[in-house]
Amino acid sequence: MTPTEAQDRISQLRAEVARHDELYYRHATPEMPDYDYDRLKRELADLEREFPAAALAAGEGSPTQSIGDDRAQGFVRARHLMAMTTLENTYDEAELREFDDRLVKLIGRPALDYTVEPKIDGASISLTYEEGRLVRAVTRGDGEEGDDVTVNVRTIRGLPHRLKASPEGPPVPERVEIRGEIFLRFDEFNRINQEQDDLGAERYANPRNLAAGTLKQLDSALVAERRLEVVLYGLGYCQPSTVVSSQAAWHQAIKAWGLPGLERVTRVTGVDAVLAEIRKLDTERAAFPYATDGAVVKLDDFGQQREAGYRGEGERARKLSPRWACAYKFAPERAEARLNQITIQVGRTGVLTPVAELEPVQLAGTTVARATLHNRDEIARKDIRVGDYVWVEKAGEIIPAVIGVNLARRAPECVPYSFPTHCPACGTPAEQREGEVAWRCPNDDCPVQVRRRVQHFAAKSGVDIDGLGEAMVDSLVAKGWVHRVPDIYRLRRDDLLTLGKSVAKSMDKLLAAIEASKRAELWRFIHGLGITHVGAAAAKDLAAHFGGLERLAEAKFTDFIGEKGESLIPGIGETMALAIVTFFNEPRHRALVSDLLAVGVQPVAPEKNKPTGTALAGKTVVLTGTLPTLTREEATARIEAAGGKVSSSVSKKTSYVLAGAEAGSKLDKARTLGVTVIDEAAFLALLAGG
Ligand code: ZN
Repeated sequence: MTPTEAQDRISQLRAEVARHDELYYRHATPEMPDYDYDRLKRELADLEREFPAAALAAGEGSPTQSIGDDRAQGFVRARHLMAMTTLENTYDEAELREFDDRLVKLIGRPALDYTVEPKIDGASISLTYEEGRLVRAVTRGDGEEGDDVTVNVRTIRGLPHRLKASPEGPPVPERVEIRGEIFLRFDEFNRINQEQDDLGAERYANPRNLAAGTLKQLDSALVAERRLEVVLYGLGYCQPSTVVSSQAAWHQAIKAWGLPGLERVTRVTGVDAVLAEIRKLDTERAAFPYATDGAVVKLDDFGQQREAGYRGEGERARKLSPRWACAYKFAPERAEARLNQITIQVGRTGVLTPVAELEPVQLAGTTVARATLHNRDEIARKDIRVGDYVWVEKAGEIIPAVIGVNLARRAPECVPYSFPTHCPACGTPAEQREGEVAWRCPNDDCPVQVRRRVQHFAAKSGVDIDGLGEAMVDSLVAKGWVHRVPDIYRLRRDDLLTLGKSVAKSMDKLLAAIEASKRAELWRFIHGLGITHVGAAAAKDLAAHFGGLERLAEAKFTDFIGEKGESLIPGIGETMALAIVTFFNEPRHRALVSDLLAVGVQPVAPEKNKPTGTALAGKTVVLTGTLPTLTREEATARIEAAGGKVSSSVSKKTSYVLAGAEAGSKLDKARTLGVTVIDEAAFLALLAGG
């Protein structure tokens, strides 16, 4: 490779790794298995080492010199007292031996003590306890500063908000950062996906992404519905710093204080024992109720950890990863299968999704015959051809994906796959929208799209029309009676009876069900419209806020998102806001709404149930300063939910001033006017009816 080629490849890899970092950390929607991502990042790091001049010429800001960034819109940021780093990954014994060699030389002792822990595949979290009380929960963020997700983390059952003083453990520190992982068990993950199926919504790809995505929900009520769990194992800042002196003692301290710790931690001496332990863990983990993707190996002694230090320390302002620990990643479960055919599925929105039809193969205990190929670019990038032997992977509960081709088994007659240029359902030339990877059928009248839209509208999670199942929708569309969703309200009994004489009774039932659906709940109509990103939960939030289809259709982006990017409607973020506005920008979608109203639908809006029994009902509250755990939006949402009103200025009519840290002139004014000033604790007590 010439330096010029190296520079090109470095630039290319940096862009690609940065894109995957963004998807993984910020959106929790990775497109690529971790294993492949790690390989890309590894290739980049190797090139940067081998061609330092080319790396320099490619510019600053390589993703190998940062740890990703999970910070998202809508959260208050909080700084870690001690930087939160990531672990270097190793994939084989040789690399683990090198890791040990380096430490043996550095510490100057032949056989070092290590702890071996299972690596749980979740989202990193740092909990701060002050005087034994949980005061803050922060995501890793960029390592220095993360998102404050305290409100969400407090909903986790089994996480004590107070550390227990126990004779078996060290004294409770004045202030301590305890690091761990938020995760979902397989059974809870499956329960949520089952619910998605019932709602006709898209399934979540794997427990890790769902846990990370849930942690970043702005609606803590939704978080509480999902049984997130937390496991704690790491130590950040600690005052006094002498509480414990080893990793093994730290694990004991976590348990003694009543916190959820790792169930399986072992302490061994020397690298051979470490490797034996890792192999044991790899066989045992199949029975674990949660996803694990490796083992974490740490120097046990904290004094030795300090000697080893951090990568990036000194040379840069930022610590990257500890030299005293590494993650040994288990190779994912893969199987090889012949790709018999590639079929194209047409979605409700016209997206053409390629699906691999495989020679059935056993993988992780199930038979796999189909796997997703994502999109056209993905097939081209991996050069996947019909007739190839491909590797299929299923890590944890991930829907199987084709991750590569065994080129050694490629037959000479295999030709590159050409993605269809036309919709397989209606023959319309496929299009690609700017900024999207997907190809779409742009034909609004495409029969498959019409069928899927009507099915979605009539489904249980839509207006729920009994008798209008998939087969019935298919025949109504095939007969040409239904082109648009509102057409189902124009069906004629005489037409329906031509479907067969014996069906009169069931047709009358169907017509009655269709008629009854005109007065379905508003959220069902909103969900039934099929707006991207808007699931049933969001549809309910939108219904509660807008109270009518027309008001929603006319809403502007600024009705959803405030000037500072803050969410104005609980549960609705920026992505969703944009999707909603874009949807109703299309005349045909606005026509859909007016058409529905024209055929006589009367969506039932949720009762504006202003609770009257609470202490805040009918009261006006002014917010000022920074509250210890609640964000301004969260406090506002809670006041409104309790029937109160939030005002921006203090007057004699103000019922309460809710003041946090650095409260300014509003607090002074409240005192002058004699308005009751409350802090967050008093506020929460009021809400709780205290
Ligand atoms: Zn089509």
